[in-house]
Amino acid sequence: GAVLEFADFKRWLVRDGREKGAEYRFDARATEPITEGEGSNERAVGVRYDGDEEVYADIVVDATGPAAPLARKLGVCELQREHQAIGVEWEMEGVDVDHPDYADLTDAMMLRLDHHLAPGGYSWMFHTGGDRAKVGICYIQNESHERYGDEGMRIDDYLERWEAEDPRLADAERIAGEQHRGSAHVQMPDGLSTGGFMAVGDTVPTIDPLWGEGIYKCMESGRAAAVTADRCLMGDDSSAAATSVYDDLWHTRVAPNIRTRLTMTRLLYLAGNERYDRLMADLDRLGDGTLSAANGGSVRALARLLHLDDASLLARFAREHLLGSQPG
Ligand SMILES: Cc1cc2nc3c(=O)[nH]c(=O)nc-3n(C[C@H](O)[C@H](O)[C@H](O)COP(=O)(O)OP(=O)(O)OC[C@H]3O[C@@H](n4cnc5c(N)ncnc54)[C@H](O)[C@@H]3O)c2cc1C
Repeated sequence: GAVLEFADFKRWLVRDGREKGAEYRFDARATEPITEGEGSNERAVGVRYDGDEEVYADIVVDATGPAAPLARKLGVCELQREHQAIGVEWEMEGVDVDHPDYADLTDAMMLRLDHHLAPGGYSWMFHTGGDRAKVGICYIQNESHERYGDEGMRIDDYLERWEAEDPRLADAERIAGEQHRGSAHVQMPDGLSTGGFMAVGDTVPTIDPLWGEGIYKCMESGRAAAVTADRCLMGDDSSAAATSVYDDLWHTRVAPNIRTRLTMTRLLYLAGNERYDRLMADLDRLGDGTLSAANGGSVRALARLLHLDDASLLARFAREHLLGSQPG
């Protein structure tokens, strides 16, 4: 296995961008888009940052993650709190990665569905070498979190609970500075672009709702935006119609099954811990093929994982997500 050093990767991206002619302005806080035109003719022509600083561009791209100051003000995407997933992760040393009571985590990634540790979400240990691992928790702050969570517990409390209870972490120490926390929205994007403007990464949001995998998906959205920008600049047209090519690429190449995956995610976190145990036993029995097919959205594979007594779960899902509000 391999672990991507996210900070090193970002430094490499900056270096590579500079070599290709990009100019970076660090510590510049974008506050709002500069626009021209009214109503449906409104288009972005630049960005206001750090108070009254301005920069103009043929095409503006919002890549600020869930902050989304430009996408929000342009009405491209409204991120909703009830769909917000929060996460925290520490790299730790002294982790017993091959504890006799647990599966061997050497060179492996472990995801755990357990509402006791991550109500309405999941927790993970990713081995990073030797006795080190990234240990984290994330959950969506929605009705499943309320149902399974404990009053007054915050995300750091759940991580501390895990550290206190899991024998693999008995001697583990958090490595100073090796902390990562943030949020992403698990929802259907309203829109992705408008005249002179595209939103990429978790601004839209692009993270895979089921298993995270945000970095790869977000990079893919950047590539789709680059292809679109190239086309717009070649044709000297960055109207809403021209930038909408990005929407097509996003829906067909970047996140093709987004609606199914959002539904699967909500259904998954609605289930209780006993149902998770049964799901894991089924997956063990049915083999990796069923898991990959279900992960790809195959209705046949998903049906093999459902049982008669899931009817009440599905009814609750329909009540909370289909009748109450539209998914995403
Ligand atoms: C705890 C945790 C663990 C994770 N683990 C993984 C993992 O193992 N694998 C994986 O693939 N994904 C993981 N993810 C998800 C992944 O980090 C995100 O999906 C990904 O970083 C999103 O990329 P982005 O560029 O869209 O946004 P971000 O990475 O959030 O980058 C946005 C940038 O914009 C800047 N910014 C914000 N507001 C403004 C503003 N107003 N003006 C200017 N700049 C601004 C921010 O400072 C930041 O630098 C994890 C997330 C969390 C929270």
